[in-house]
Formats: sequence, C-alpha cells, structure tokens
Amino acid sequence: MNKLLAKPVIEKRRAELLDKTIALKSKIGRAPHLAVILIGDDPASEVYVGKKGQAAEAVGFSHETILFPKDVDPSVVYKRIGELNESKNVDGILVQRPVPHQFKEEDMAMAVTPKKDVDCLHPENVGLLVNGNPRFYPCTPRGILLLLEFYGIPVEKKLACVIGRSSIVGKPLAALLLAKNATILQIHRSTPNPSELCKQADLVFVAAGSPKLVKKDWIKPGAVVIDVGVHRDQNNKLFGDVDASEMEGVASALTPVPGGVGPMTIQVLLENTFASAEQRR
Ligand code: NAD
Repeated sequence: MNKLLAKPVIEKRRAELLDKTIALKSKIGRAPHLAVILIGDDPASEVYVGKKGQAAEAVGFSHETILFPKDVDPSVVYKRIGELNESKNVDGILVQRPVPHQFKEEDMAMAVTPKKDVDCLHPENVGLLVNGNPRFYPCTPRGILLLLEFYGIPVEKKLACVIGRSSIVGKPLAALLLAKNATILQIHRSTPNPSELCKQADLVFVAAGSPKLVKKDWIKPGAVVIDVGVHRDQNNKLFGDVDASEMEGVASALTPVPGGVGPMTIQVLLENTFASAEQRR
C-alpha cells in the first residue's frame, strides 16, 4: 500500500510559490499578506494558526494573527473584519474555525469580502465554484486533488465516494471531483448501508469527523483512500477517520494522519492568498 505523503508535494509547490512571491514583491513593492482571526483559546486552533503563520513566512508572505477573547461581542469582530476588508495591504482573511456559539456561521461566511475570502466560504465564492469558475479554491478539497495529481492517481471516470457533507470539506470536495469528471457517491449521517455503498468506490474520501469510522469492509480491494479526519488519542497522538491498521492489503494507497491532507490544506491557503495579491495588484 502506497502512503500518499504531503511532504514532497509541499516541497515542490512551496519552492515554486517562493519564487513567484519574490517576483510579485518586486512588482508591487510588498509581500502578499494573510490576516488570521482567532477567537478564544482552543489549543488545537492555536496550533493550526501557528502552523499557518510559519508556512506564510516560509514562502515570503507577511501575516498577522488577530486575537479576540471567547466571549467577545460579534460586532467587535465584524468591525475589525470590515477594516481588513478595506485595507490595501491585506490580501487574504481567514477566520479560524470553530468559532464560539454567539457567532452564526452564515454571518461569519458573509463578513469577509469575497475578494479576500481565501477559505472560499462566502456564498459568492461557493457559487462560482459550483458553476465551475472558481475565484478561490476550497483549501482542503483542492489540497486533496493536488495530492492525487502529484501521485498520478486519476479521478476522471472513477466512482468517488465522499463521506461527509460539511461546507468546508464534503460539499466543495464533491463539486471539485464532479468538475474533474468523477461520478460522486455522497454519504452522510442519514445514508442507509454506508459501508455497502462505499465498497463500490474506486476513490474514498473520508471527512466524517468520526474516529476510525472506515474499516476494511468499507473498501473495495485496490481503492485509494483519503483520510481527512483529525483526532487525538489519550497520548496526544493524531489519527484519522479511517482505521489505518486495517487498510494494508486492501487499499492501494492511503493518506497518513498526520502528514497527508493537513499540510496540503495550508499550502492551498497560501496559493489562494498569492492569487488574491496578484489579482488585486
Ligand atoms: P463536520 O462535523 O462539519 O461534518 C461531518 C460530516 O460527516 C457531516 O456531514 C455528517 O453528516 C457526516 N458524518 C458524520 N458521521 C458520519 C457517519 N457515521 N457516517 C456517515 N457520515 C457521517 O466535519 P468537517 O468539518 O467536514 O471535518 C471532518 C473531519 O475532518 C474532522 O475530523 C476535522 O477535524 C477534519 N478536518 C481536517 C482538515 C485538514 O486539513 N486535515 C480540514 C478540515 C477538517
């Protein structure tokens, strides 16, 4: 079974992005700038935001993290987002999820101007994506497709099973796969007999947020399995939505957790921010 590691993909794409950033900087006189908003003190979110900042620095971007306490009034955050929307020196704005309960997801998705919505969550950008003319790419789904492309795994004419239908992974992933001429089988909590359906698929994408949900009896021999899930065991060790210990001898390829989908997500965030800087120069 092949391990689909993000590392070689990232090394190649990051080197290319650094070169392009140097060239863009000399044209526009500044680096692409990413602003990240972090509300509350969730330790996992703090780690993710730290990684995004490090990655931005590695490709020559400038970045800032704007912190708010967990009980902040939404109007305070929306006012700050409004200032970032207007700023000439900000190219990408990302609100780290999850956000506290006083925020409504639909309001948050509308708050960031679509021109700087590098998470691709604004309804205008979702519409452009579904219509096949994306302004920005959804980070995790696009990262998965780049990973498959790097490893020479075709999508066209394949039966792809997407487990999960969230706005951030499942739905946009199905849209991207459809645009690449895959046939989609979308499974969610209300799907009867999910393992039987999944077992028909050539490509399996698991974004259910359910630890080790997918076992060997879900997988057709030779299928490619992409594990989006991220969980921590009692020793703080990361693992996914797929029971990786059961995939050997069944799947032909699997993304490891960590080291598979996660780093690709950050790479696409950077590429979106670069595209924004280039479009707005
Ligand atoms: P979510 O909770 O918003 O959505 C989960 C989806 O899975 C729902 O649509 C639900 O219907 C479906 N689902 C849940 N249990 C199921 C089951 N037993 N059978 C079939 N369908 C089921 O989750 P999300 O935001 O899409 O995230 C999914 C997982 O991916 C989480 O573990 C999250 O931490 C991880 N994630 C990782 C990255 C990354 O970059 N690696 C990015 C985003 C999310």
